Amino acid sequence: MLENIRIVMVNTSHPGNIGAAARAMKNMSLAELYLVDPVEFPSTEAALRATHAVDIVDKAVVSGSLAEAVADCSLVIGTSARERTMSWVVEKPREMAATALAHASQGKVAIVFGRERTGLTNEELSLCQRLVHIPTNPECTSLNVAAAVQVIAYELFNADLGESNYIVPEQLGDDQVAKAGQIQTLHQHFEQVMTEVAFFGSNNPENVMRRLQLFLNRAQPTRRELNILHGILTAMQKKL
Ligand code: SAH
Repeated sequence: MLENIRIVMVNTSHPGNIGAAARAMKNMSLAELYLVDPVEFPSTEAALRATHAVDIVDKAVVSGSLAEAVADCSLVIGTSARERTMSWVVEKPREMAATALAHASQGKVAIVFGRERTGLTNEELSLCQRLVHIPTNPECTSLNVAAAVQVIAYELFNADLGESNYIVPEQLGDDQVAKAGQIQTLHQHFEQVMTEVAFFGSNNPENVMRRLQLFLNRAQPTRRELNILHGILTAMQKKL
């Protein structure tokens, strides 16, 4: 199932970190690397640091935004150097690996790594359904990004070796977990209808919309559930 795991690095500053991450991936049998708006890429430094994993660097897909890089993924997991508790299920790497592999049997799973200095923005985090935090010395919680890729990749490799007890929640039958891009489309549909019914008033739409996005992501809806919600929204639009 490791072939369905995608490592996504957002806005990486140092190309050496891209190379080191590729090497860490290859050691652990991961192959799919996406780079969102890398600061310096293609780069000789990245290729040099990758050594025998230069093929992963060569095949890396560059995208303009995180939303685009994960649109076809059934599960998007963010990484965080901080233990955030609000809104997300925060897992340890080992739990995350079991969850990720179970989902990887159904579709693509993205694991998203942030900028060296500032991590992921709130907007990027709100595209994630879960977060993983690598436990560390509380006085020094932030790993080098390629080192973080190594830890996560190692746990995935190990989980792939052994039997996992985690099963994708619910019997989905012929239904499927919705892709990140489909959840975004529903979120936009909500925004449209909420604007049409003048829901926002003096509320800050950005704040409300972000909360709604977090809620939708946390719920991990199936395609059929999304269709029901789209149906309700469309019926309301017709009545208006
Ligand atoms: N000051 C930033 C640190 C960024 S470290 C912040 O607080 O978010 C760069 C990236 O490495 C992070 O975005 C994350 O992808 C990864 N990383 C670093 N330490 C981590 C940890 N303890 N757990 C999970 N990911 C970590």
